[in-house]
Amino acid sequence: MFKFAIIAPVLTMAALALCNSASAQTDREVNWSIAIHGGAGTIEREKITPEKDAEIRTALNKALAEGSRILKAGGSAMDAITATIVLLENDPNFNAGKGAVFTWDKTNELDSSIMDGSDLSAGAVAGVTATKNPILLARAVKNNSPHVMLSGKGADQFSREQGLEQVTPDYYATPRRLKQIEDVLAQQVSAADIDHKFGTVGAVAMDSKGNMAAGTSTGGMTGKRWGRIGDSPVVGAGTYADNRSCAISATGAGEYFIRLGVAHEICTRIRMRFPAAIEEAQTTVPKDKDGNYSYLIHASEFILDDAEVQEIADDVMAELGGIGGTGGIIYATPWGQAGYSFNTPGMYRGRATSDGTTSVSIYGDEE
Ligand code: ASP
Repeated sequence: MFKFAIIAPVLTMAALALCNSASAQTDREVNWSIAIHGGAGTIEREKITPEKDAEIRTALNKALAEGSRILKAGGSAMDAITATIVLLENDPNFNAGKGAVFTWDKTNELDSSIMDGSDLSAGAVAGVTATKNPILLARAVKNNSPHVMLSGKGADQFSREQGLEQVTPDYYATPRRLKQIEDVLAQQVSAADIDHKFGTVGAVAMDSKGNMAAGTSTGGMTGKRWGRIGDSPVVGAGTYADNRSCAISATGAGEYFIRLGVAHEICTRIRMRFPAAIEEAQTTVPKDKDGNYSYLIHASEFILDDAEVQEIADDVMAELGGIGGTGGIIYATPWGQAGYSFNTPGMYRGRATSDGTTSVSIYGDEE
């Protein structure tokens, strides 16, 4: 099942005239948009108490409100997603920062990545063990190092050198995660065999300047071993942002997202579809007596419509399902669309836009 929610993007009259898709479009303006997730998986009503349900919604709303506040004030997409992810990392309900899952060796190894769609700069860390907020470390790698990805001890060292807040292992540990790893160890099953509720967190946004950003943070998978790294810190798999196409953050069985390069794949399909759609629209423009088009379609007048964007995201998620992968993604586009696609029963998620739309959902049957 695919679940999605779409925000109608900014449309000029020219674009309105040229889009003939079946999807509903309006001309209300969207100056900024943000979508967030707190993981996907076997999230079903009967498995969650009303108290936990309310707690999760409160956490998602708080994170969404912070991201929205920054965007509304004219802040950047990068700042909005960073602040949003920090809040989710600090919340023990999610598998990132405090509340991260345990490895086979009962340690916490955190992964994170961030990308700025305005210049394609990116930063990522894998297997870090002492940084309170790994998303801040990913951002520091992006801004203050010549590299894109650091791992393990070196990443921990870079974190200290950057003056980022350090914590001891007990900071991450929660009784719930300890019980999960103890169950796994008692059964001696592998990380891949567990019924996962992926609690990874992520955010994507478009700011009022039209810049896109994406970020993801996770503890990975319960019982992971041998230094396993999932998709979350892999730019192109779990995270991608490009002003020419979209911003994506993923959650789910990381190995499959890596194999398909899900985040980049969705952005590439949007980017490649865009000129094709302009070209197609051009053919609908009347020609003058000499056989020349009476006017040329300009990129700034054109958008991919809601249905096209959703279809691209759903197609890639269907391919992921085809190779055995489960999970979900959130997306934001330069046209103000913000939405989701997932093939799990539920996904902790939320979205907000400048026109006042804001919603938080958990189960597959919600908006
Ligand atoms: N994608 C993450 C990983 O494979 C797990 C998750 O989304 O919760 O490490």
